[in-house]
Formats: sequence, C-alpha cells, structure tokens
Amino acid sequence: MKFYEVVLLRSSAPHLTYSFSSALAVGPIVNVPLKSTMKEAIILGTVSKPNFNTEEILSLSEFYYNKEQIEIAKFISEYYFSSFSEAISLFLPYRRSGSPDPDNNLQKERSVMPIENVGVGIPRPTLSPSQQQAYESILTKDKSLLFGVTGSGKTEIFISLFAKMLEEGLTSIFLMPEISLTPQMEKRLKVYFGDTVAMWHSKLTKKKKESILEAIEEGSIRIVAGARSALFVPLNNLGLIVVDEEHDDSYKAMTRPRYHARDVAVLMGAKLGAKVLLASATPSMSSYHKYDVVKLDKPYVETKKKYEFITGNNINHSILNTLNSHYKEGNQSLLFLPTRGNFKYLYCESCGKTHLCPYCSVGMALHRRFKHLKCHYCNFTEAIVDTCTQCGHQPLKSDRMGTVEAMEVIEEAIEGIQVEQFDKDSITTAKKLKEALGRFESGESQLLLGTQMLSKGHDYANITLSVIMGLDYILGLADYRARERAMSLLFQIAGRSGRAKEAEVIVQTGDPEFFQTYLSDYEVFIKDELAFLEMADYPPFVSLARILIAHKDESKAGKITLDTVTKLKAFKDIEIVGSGKAPVERVANKFRFNILLRSKNRVPLLKALHSVDCREIEIDMDPVEFS
Ligand SMILES: [Zn+2]
Ligand SMILES: [Zn+2]
Repeated sequence: MKFYEVVLLRSSAPHLTYSFSSALAVGPIVNVPLKSTMKEAIILGTVSKPNFNTEEILSLSEFYYNKEQIEIAKFISEYYFSSFSEAISLFLPYRRSGSPDPDNNLQKERSVMPIENVGVGIPRPTLSPSQQQAYESILTKDKSLLFGVTGSGKTEIFISLFAKMLEEGLTSIFLMPEISLTPQMEKRLKVYFGDTVAMWHSKLTKKKKESILEAIEEGSIRIVAGARSALFVPLNNLGLIVVDEEHDDSYKAMTRPRYHARDVAVLMGAKLGAKVLLASATPSMSSYHKYDVVKLDKPYVETKKKYEFITGNNINHSILNTLNSHYKEGNQSLLFLPTRGNFKYLYCESCGKTHLCPYCSVGMALHRRFKHLKCHYCNFTEAIVDTCTQCGHQPLKSDRMGTVEAMEVIEEAIEGIQVEQFDKDSITTAKKLKEALGRFESGESQLLLGTQMLSKGHDYANITLSVIMGLDYILGLADYRARERAMSLLFQIAGRSGRAKEAEVIVQTGDPEFFQTYLSDYEVFIKDELAFLEMADYPPFVSLARILIAHKDESKAGKITLDTVTKLKAFKDIEIVGSGKAPVERVANKFRFNILLRSKNRVPLLKALHSVDCREIEIDMDPVEFS
C-alpha cells in the first residue's frame, strides 16, 4: 500500500491522507470515499504510512492537473489567502490520453498534440506604420503594456499577434473585462480565425463548454477569448496572453480566491514561457509603472472632440437640449451615470434621515418600475414608502438620479427618442445584451444610457455626443484610486464617441479644473498621479492589503478586529494604516470592520498576514474595493 496527500476539490477542508495499491504521480483527479459519499480530489504527493487508519482511493478519473497548474494554484492560494482547493478549482483539468492506467506515470503527461501550420495563409489586417512599429516592438518583449487611445487600433495588433502565434503552432488567450464585450469581438475574430477561436465565459451552457474543451484538446481551437475564467482553460503550447482593458477592476475577483486576473496572467506567462501583452487607453498606474510601455500614438481615425463642463447633478435643460439636437440630426448619443434604478436614496427633508435597508447601513434605492425599494448590497426589497419612519413627515425626497429615472425624464422631454437601458438590471442575459447592442447598432434606438458597462470597449461609429454624469460621486469615494477611477472613466466614455464624426462631450462636475488639466493627454495624468501616489505611500510604490471582518454580533466583530491588530503590531516591517468600522458598516445583518495594512515589500506583509490567517477574517491582497 502507498499513501497519498489529497485535497478535495471545491472545498475548504484540510488536506487528507488516503491509500492506494499502486504508484501515483502528483496531479491526477481521483475519487475518494468521504463519510458515505464519494468526492473528487487531487493527488498532491506521497506521504509515509500514517499512524491512523486510512481509506482507499476508489478510482482514477480521466482528468489531471499538470505541474504548472498546481504551482500557479499554490501561488494563488498563498498570495491571495485561499485554500489550495479553492485555487486549483479555478482551473480546468487536462484529460489523459489513452486508457486510465494507474501505473502510468502521469507526470510524463499526454504527448503534446503536434500543431501543424494552420496559420499559413490566414488573412491579416493591414497595419498602419505606427501599428506595425508597435507590433514589432511587442514581439521583442516577454511582457509589455500597449498604451493607445481608444480607436488607435489596438485590436488589429492583437489579431496580428494571434495570427503569428498560429503560424508558430502556439495557442493564445485573449482576456476582456466583461462578457458584454464578447459579441462584438467574436464577430471580428471569426473573420480572421473562423473555428480556431472560441469565446469562453461563465454564461456558456455546460454542453457548449464541453464541446469547446474537446476542440481545445483536439487542437482545433487555438485561441480562447473571454472574461476572467478564460485564463484557466487547459490549452497546450500557450504562446500569448493578451489582457485588454487591463485597467478594469472587474479583473479582480471579489470572492475567494480574490485574485487579480491581470497579475495572474503575468505570472502564468512567466511560468509557461508565454508572452504577455496588457493593453489600455487608460493604463493602470501599476502596469504603467511596472512594465515596458509600447505607445500607439496616432488614433486610427482622427476626430475632434469638443468638451463642455456643466454643474449640477441631475438631467437638466442643457443636457436635454443637446441630446435633442443630436437626436434631431439623426445621430446617436451615450449617457453615463453611476447609479441604477430611479434614485439611490430617499431622505426626509424634515429630520434628515435617509431611508435605510433594515439589514445594511445603506440607503434603499427606488425602482419605480418594479414598484419597490431595493438594497443594492443584500438585494432586500420592500414596498415603496413615502413617509419618514422617524418623524412621520411626508413626502420623502429622492436623491442621486439613476438610469431608469434619467430614461423616463429624457423620454418625456424628447418626443420619439428610443433609449436603450444598459445596466445590470436590464442586461441580465447574453441574449438581452446582443439584442440591446443590435438595436443600437441598427439605429432603432438612439441613446445608449447606462452605468459602468458602457465604458468597456464598445465601438460605434455614429455616436456624436457623450454625456458623463456622476463623476463627483466617484471622485468622492474613500479610495486611494478615486482620482484614477474618475479620470479613466471620463476618457473611456468620451472615447466611445467621435469614432467617425466630430463629437461633443458634456461632463457634469463641480471640479472641471481637475479634468481639464489632463484632457489632452492621459499620460500626463499618469505621471502626476504616480508622483502623488509615491509621495502618499500608495501602490504601486507599496503593497496594500485589507482585512475584512464581518459578524452578526457587533462586539464580536470589534473584538476580532482588535485581536488581529494586536497580533499584527508585533510585525515591525508593516504599517497598520487604519482599523475600525468599514465605510459600509453593516451588510446583510453582519457588522463589518476592516483593517488596512501596507508595507514597502510584499514579503513581510504576506508573512504577517499568514500568521493571523484564520477563518474569522477575510484577507484581500492588492484590494481595489474599500466600501
Ligand atoms: Zn423625518
Ligand atoms: Zn441590504
């Protein structure tokens, strides 16, 4: 009998010991008995005969994780503070070739599928001189950051790189921040790559996923494009990972493992010897600071933009008039605001009380269409109220206009205009997304109105007006990246307009000077902001970690926080920036506390955090969210 350390998949259970009659390598997925059930587990290594009774491994499955997947998962679990099981479960395993033979040394793995030169003769986009220069420069570097304004033709460069990989018999991964981007991109990629490209995201059916995996295994699919999860498909001979819109926060997972897909892509590239290309019109401070920058200067289609700064925080006459004139001229517009529903808050004019969610310390948002108030944190809903629960005053006032209210106001003021609502409430499925974009593309609707979703890479030739509201709310967030987030949003939304025609951009803000300073060049903003971050001791110049504590019992949460702070104080190389109640003090009836830590180097920070790691706290390395 031989003895093995195994880890159950998709579980936070500790590592277990099982026995098996023959030799097994590291990596195969096996079935093991646990109490009265059978569980999937992965073999992590051999151990000596333990002094307790062990059960026997029941059978070997036809799947296994390879050495690199296991190493990267180990890194993720240690760096992002998750169990190894949670980390390895991000990956999709490889399938063994041949019949499952337990004595077969799996470490030899399947023989890598020979990839013939399918790429020869595939059509390629024609590159402009500046695109060609960028393309060649990228080829000389292991990892680089492609920095080019929206519309400068980054996608043609990606396509040329994928074609080059195909010719060399290598595969590619193409990451996009949101699946909302995939329909348009899929169309473009299919033109060049046909069935060698597959889109991969969480909304695919199980059947579709299986057929893609089979084609990857056969070697007929060599380019996988999609959201975060596309990083973990089992490709052979990986040559390139492209991370488009690399600045986007949706690359950071908000549940365990709280990994950042961009950073894991860089690690993976180094480990597998694959090239990594990050790209953005508004690069993150950290990528600009860390990686070789390849600049794409000239916009592909050069157009002029006229900026106008206005005050206020609602749809006003000036916005309505401009929207109306663009509509009358047969053009299309874009309107961004950061809030969903009708209004974010209801408050009492008499006593000042905001109508809060009973389970969270956040205001209930008004959704008139659904005839309810909804908490955007815990999804609790209740009937619409109009009387103050504290003093009985009525009616309640509403504040911070949302997408639905803006739509209603616009539709009432501009006769005939068709508005496309583009947010999480309306775009709930891939089908609805396709339909909404289709209607806008065909001109059936003339105004695309939505939240952050709008800022992510959609291209439309006819947009002649962008209206950007609510930037002051983003600037006011308690987040060291608030300025970057607001500025990047402004550039991204403004960049959606004027692809083919001259365009107007209306920005509603109380701080026009801040935005005006940088309008002509995002790089000037990056340089100023990096100087500020260096002075204020924020990333990328230091490492940051946030500890979250949530408990039904407020005093218990407070005590865990204090105890953790006490333990951390013993570590001299780290600084406790702050600790106490989180900005949103309560969510889903749990009281929330947080601790913010920083250190010049990540090693002492990780060491300190591993010493306090326990089930009662959640550790977020390199956090992007501070609420
Ligand atoms: Zn009141
Ligand atoms: Zn709530």
